[in-house]
Amino acid sequence: MKHVPRDEFVPRAMKFKAFSNNALPIGEGQTISQPFIVALMTDLLETQQDHRILEIGTGSGYQAAILSRLVKHVYSLEIVPALAEQARQKLSKLGYDNVEVKIGDGHSGWPAQAPYDGIIITAAASHLPPKLLEQLKPGGRLVIPLGMPYMHQELLLVSKDLNGQCHTRDILGVVFVPMIGGSEETLPEH
Ligand code: SAH
Repeated sequence: MKHVPRDEFVPRAMKFKAFSNNALPIGEGQTISQPFIVALMTDLLETQQDHRILEIGTGSGYQAAILSRLVKHVYSLEIVPALAEQARQKLSKLGYDNVEVKIGDGHSGWPAQAPYDGIIITAAASHLPPKLLEQLKPGGRLVIPLGMPYMHQELLLVSKDLNGQCHTRDILGVVFVPMIGGSEETLPEH
């Protein structure tokens, strides 16, 4: 986290707050997560250098940039096209070349690149999207805030064992923007 310049991922007007331990608005009604939560979720994934990670909710691209320093490749899906485009440009300008950003609904995951060693969802879902569980490797970990919009949400760690059984653990209460969309249809590949 020392090496990824958070001030590059927030709007100009928010730069003076970039190094405070707070979520900040990034436009389109969305936020960049609080650094403590980024660190915690990253840690829970127990990443290794050869891992391929799927992120749902690119937002500013900051979480993806952090992950990109720890793993081989980050695939990140964002449902708001303007944010996806902005994050793609930012990540490329700053040289985070092992991050791929795609516009899409995270409920369907990114089947073409599955399975993943880890999946991180950075918007609050009402339920565990089944397609994402399917796209997690046995032995893999998934981190997701579950709960109703702006109400009590719980950060969950889901571990898939080598037999494909999933085990969940409550980590702590959190507040995330809601995961929107929700069609279980697979979107066409771009
Ligand atoms: N990880 C981001 C923070 C994201 S805020 C960062 O580091 O800045 C949550 C993001 O999830 C928002 O950008 C929102 O547009 C996106 N989002 C919400 N629902 C989604 C969905 N169904 N699929 C993909 N992205 C979604």
